[in-house]
Amino acid sequence: MRQPLVAGNWKMNGSRQSAIELLNGIKAGISEVTTAEVAVCPPSIFIPLAWRTLADTPIAWGGQDVSVHESGAYTGEIAGSMFADYDCKYVIVGHSERRTYHGESDTLVAEKFEAARKAGLIPIFCVGETLEEREQGITEQVVGRQVDAVISRGGVGLLAQGVVAYEPVWAIGTGRTASPEQAQDVHAFIRARIAAHDPEAAAEVRILYGGSMKPGNAAELLAKPDIDGGLIGGASLKAADFLAICTAANA
Ligand code: PEP
Repeated sequence: MRQPLVAGNWKMNGSRQSAIELLNGIKAGISEVTTAEVAVCPPSIFIPLAWRTLADTPIAWGGQDVSVHESGAYTGEIAGSMFADYDCKYVIVGHSERRTYHGESDTLVAEKFEAARKAGLIPIFCVGETLEEREQGITEQVVGRQVDAVISRGGVGLLAQGVVAYEPVWAIGTGRTASPEQAQDVHAFIRARIAAHDPEAAAEVRILYGGSMKPGNAAELLAKPDIDGGLIGGASLKAADFLAICTAANA
């Protein structure tokens, strides 16, 4: 039985004050969440706030990106060990915004995945096709290539140590959600791709859906057999909305 995971990706939003309020709001409402695991990924500068606020709660926290390097002259980068030092459990790697705006390749994302594991973090590994790629009918080709990059780097054993997040690029922040059937199809494809290497690992790995998941559509997406939770952007910025999705993941 895969424990559902609902992870909030705050992206580059908020202020010190709003971050404190959001963390406290989630903390105050979390008691109703029983079976789903919950995590928040604030901007790195707010991670010490998460560390202080969430330490005695079941809520985990993590980063939004990680350096491939362990330390040194890499201005602006944050090492996995630094996230681990603040007790981060997770780190997002390969988010489409990193791939698109920072030119992150499949190879670099796979390196980040490995760097995260070396630091003891669990990567939330994002994959997904653009609208153009979906319309060309190459969704499986693209997602398969992205998944294979991690398997090529460290074997299926490495991939199985992370969480996969299927995030169709056309659904991220657009209000346009993949239908539960569209999402389930790609999730099943990802699981089959992993199963071709290791059926047990495939059965255990959690595959989250991300892309305009909201309280109103979460339950039907989360009801699909291969959707094991959500990576939530916009709706993770309001405690009530985020908590409603967490509650939907319990069902
Ligand atoms: C995301 O940033 O990973 C995401 C899924 O965003 P949104 O929920 O806003 O579409």
